[in-house]
Amino acid sequence: MRSANVQDKTTSGLNLLDLDRQGLEDYFSGLEEKSFRAGQVLKWIHQKGVSDFQQMTNLSKVLRDRLQRDTEITAPEVVYDAISEDGTRKWLLQLHDGNRIETVYIPEDDRGTLCVSSQVGCALDCSFCSTGRQGFNRNLTTAEIISQVWHATRLLDEEKKPGRKVTNVVLMGMGEPLLNFDHVVRAVRIMMDDYAYGLSKRRVTISTAGVVPAMDRLAELLDTRLAVSLHAANDELRNSLVPLNKKYPLKELMAACRRFVVRQNSRFRITFEYVLLDGVNDSDQHARELLKLVEGIPTLVNLIPFNPFEGSGYRTSPRSRVDRFNSILADAGVTTVVRRTRGDDIDAACGQLVGQIEDKSRRHRRFEEPRIGMQL
Ligand code: SAH
Repeated sequence: MRSANVQDKTTSGLNLLDLDRQGLEDYFSGLEEKSFRAGQVLKWIHQKGVSDFQQMTNLSKVLRDRLQRDTEITAPEVVYDAISEDGTRKWLLQLHDGNRIETVYIPEDDRGTLCVSSQVGCALDCSFCSTGRQGFNRNLTTAEIISQVWHATRLLDEEKKPGRKVTNVVLMGMGEPLLNFDHVVRAVRIMMDDYAYGLSKRRVTISTAGVVPAMDRLAELLDTRLAVSLHAANDELRNSLVPLNKKYPLKELMAACRRFVVRQNSRFRITFEYVLLDGVNDSDQHARELLKLVEGIPTLVNLIPFNPFEGSGYRTSPRSRVDRFNSILADAGVTTVVRRTRGDDIDAACGQLVGQIEDKSRRHRRFEEPRIGMQL
């Protein structure tokens, strides 16, 4: 039931997609309306997909008119939509300023995972990542982040096929979520709100290349899952793959991981992501180094076959290497998952569709201190 009037336009009024429950409650209290209006409006927007205020029939006519006059519900426009043979579905969303971002839906046996972007491009410039190659343009707003879930939910419903639902969200699309802290936290709160998407904390994963101060702040605010993109277990190699490591080296990163775990319940494990690059980080020695690094941390290692793109300069590790690397970890008692490559036929690997973006990163400012917790 996606209303036809939802389309991208330059935002002038207050976009209600930018507000979590608290934000809506504050807004309604300013109108001297009861706070339960917040839950009602969240339901209309996120559960029923309604963006026409006049359809919100449990609000008074006066309030509907007022919302229509002063606010809007404006999502980015879907400009590309493709379903892969394996069921992976990929969307390209165009933002009001012409920038484009990607969202990917990955169905698995008993779940459907939506891979959500947090920035236009990325400033971190990890050497094996195609998004990094495109540079960085800007942070996404809360509305632009949550709109990815909003669109996906509606468009999957329209398929009318059983099981095609968003049951999990991973912030593993374009961008570094912890460098867009406030908007990511607010969007995640909407994902987890029972009046919106109602995802449990185990079904939302925030992935970071290791922005240490933001990891500490995150642990105070949310109890979602955390994935740390490791890719190397010594500083020299990690500096070359994940340049952010020069700012927050492994010793600091692992200490932050230990602090993070302490704040969670006893079943919590950190997911460490490790993209296997042929002849670069995939030897037996590298696997043993990784074991040593994660010692004492409740760990799940996600081994990711490198997804090649033109000009990357890397090759995917052969299957036998992946298996061997995996068995060294597994034999030592570490839980591992070897990710399958999905959606090859629709370029579902992150960052492959967007193409060149207008790079606004200024190299000397790239790793400036994250501005965290400013509006929360
Ligand atoms: N900036 C965040 C989230 C985006 S990247 C982070 O670094 O975690 C999400 C995951 O995709 C990361 O683990 C990243 O290393 C992985 N990835 C990036 N490029 C890839 C590629 N070409 N092949 C396979 N995985 C890749």
